[in-house]
Amino acid sequence: MGECPVCGSEIELEDGVRENEIIDCETCGAELEVITLNPLTFEEAPEEQEDWGE
Ligand SMILES: [Zn+2]
Repeated sequence: MGECPVCGSEIELEDGVRENEIIDCETCGAELEVITLNPLTFEEAPEEQEDWGE
């Protein structure tokens, strides 16, 4: 179990998730990067602004 750094709710990882993967917090919808698996820690993923307009 990890804790969402944004809303503080507990997060249960799906099987097969590795370090550096991006997961979504089911509670607040934040994108979180898996920093370490043991102990399980997350960091809020930087929002990538995709700008397709030119
Ligand atoms: Zn959250």
